[in-house]
Amino acid sequence: FDQLDGEIWFNGEFVPWKEAKIHVLTHGLHYASAVFEGERAYGGRIFKLTEHNQRLHQSADILGFKIPYTIEELDEASNELLKRQGFSDAYVRPIAWRGSEQMGVSAQNSRINVAIAIWQWGSYFDPAEKLRGIRLDIADYRRPDPRTAPAKSKAAGLYMICTISKHAAEAKGYADALMLDWRGQVAEATGANIFFVKDGALHTPIPDCFLDGITRRTVIELAKRRGYQVVERVIMPDELSTFSECFLTGSAAEVTPVSEIGPYRFKPGTISENLMKDYVKEVHPVAAAAE
Ligand code: PMP
Repeated sequence: FDQLDGEIWFNGEFVPWKEAKIHVLTHGLHYASAVFEGERAYGGRIFKLTEHNQRLHQSADILGFKIPYTIEELDEASNELLKRQGFSDAYVRPIAWRGSEQMGVSAQNSRINVAIAIWQWGSYFDPAEKLRGIRLDIADYRRPDPRTAPAKSKAAGLYMICTISKHAAEAKGYADALMLDWRGQVAEATGANIFFVKDGALHTPIPDCFLDGITRRTVIELAKRRGYQVVERVIMPDELSTFSECFLTGSAAEVTPVSEIGPYRFKPGTISENLMKDYVKEVHPVAAAAE
């Protein structure tokens, strides 16, 4: 990924992609003092850009550091970079981290760096599999108790268990893993939230120890517009056999139907398909403007 062409916005400047480098003694690398975002641009507009940059600021606040650019400056930098990269549909990755000025757990005086990269990233899951519904394993690792980790921050450190879980699932031929939380309740996938369908209503876990995704909130709004009931509640894994449909939501994953979770089977149906269609319409600026 470090050999692409184009530019990266790096601490206020546009630098050639291949030259956007950091030192090996970067605090963020050693101690995970880093927060990031994931966004998608559709038709030249970054969907819910300001909400993502607000969350980036919040994530850093939770980790005890301040991003040295305002939300407006980050919005402007992202839009300018999208133009300079020349993409209309693309993935946007802002990241903020503590630099290499200080080593050790304490790094109060390290510089807070910010970079934004934009590249063309197609479907997060295999497109053919996505239509049939992807297969999920159930992860061994659980989402931590919010008293154990800063669950509301999109912090790089929290992704350690996600990468381990996703790799373990992939090794067994699955596309991703469902993670339970520390209580054993259904939580989310390794990079996306989860929804289920039962008797025409949507059921989704309460996001009290994982991200309340921007896509999750968008899909809840779309579902309500269609008149579907949305129930946010505790979902235990042994209930999975009672649901007819299941799908994931995320800025990268968009709306992705799920066909299997361990021993449980689902069939992408009308509700998943309608919400997939509604989401495509919602994110696309032409359709959004016409409403
Ligand atoms: N949970 C995790 C662990 C994620 O990485 C993501 C993607 N950011 C989500 C949920 C969904 O969040 P969003 O819809 O805001 O992209």
